[in-house]
Amino acid sequence: MSSDCIFCKILQGEIPSTEVYSDETFYAFRDINPGAPTHILVIPREHIPAITDAGEEHAELLGQMLLRANAIAREEGLPENGFRYVLNCGEWGGQTVFHIHLHILGGRPLGWPPG
Ligand code: AMP
Repeated sequence: MSSDCIFCKILQGEIPSTEVYSDETFYAFRDINPGAPTHILVIPREHIPAITDAGEEHAELLGQMLLRANAIAREEGLPENGFRYVLNCGEWGGQTVFHIHLHILGGRPLGWPPG
């Protein structure tokens, strides 16, 4: 846990969130500023600031995160029409919260490339 991380505060229940999924390893919740009709963030409970901070010891965790996201996407009915995973990294990558999070975006056609 990191005391100045807003996603750690969400995990601790100090900041409210709309839960989509929770277990001992992951938490998923609705993005507060949705960029699409469905916009969910999947986060590990472990505080890892950015994807580039992950090491070999996180290989299983990251694989499980994608599989968990797949299950959530299916529950949200996204695979039929297609959807997108986004993992922003660093300032130029658009990362604003430094606790790894996988965006699940769907519910409308999505443009490419992103801005
Ligand atoms: P990123 O720009 O990739 O770091 O994504 C951070 C995301 O967190 C943005 O889409 C924000 O809208 C979202 N966000 C920030 N604070 C909250 C919050 N308290 N509850 C839910 N989503 C949040």
